[in-house]
Amino acid sequence: MPKIIKISLGDTLEMKKTHPCGDNRMKVLRVGSDIRIKCEGCSRDVTVARIKLEKNIKRVIPAQTGEKGSDL
Ligand SMILES: [Zn+2]
Repeated sequence: MPKIIKISLGDTLEMKKTHPCGDNRMKVLRVGSDIRIKCEGCSRDVTVARIKLEKNIKRVIPAQTGEKGSDL
């Protein structure tokens, strides 16, 4: 059964595969059919097809929503 992964702007993705710089955390910069992510380690950014990216995600760390106020 396919797992649905919810990716939102500002989230941090923990990847299965480590980036060449040694970090495996990527920050989400843009979401669409392609997703733009930035490496937390070396600040390099890359655009990846969502379907391809999802296979590489180990964990999604949601962005802090406290300061924006998500209430009605
Ligand atoms: Zn990196």
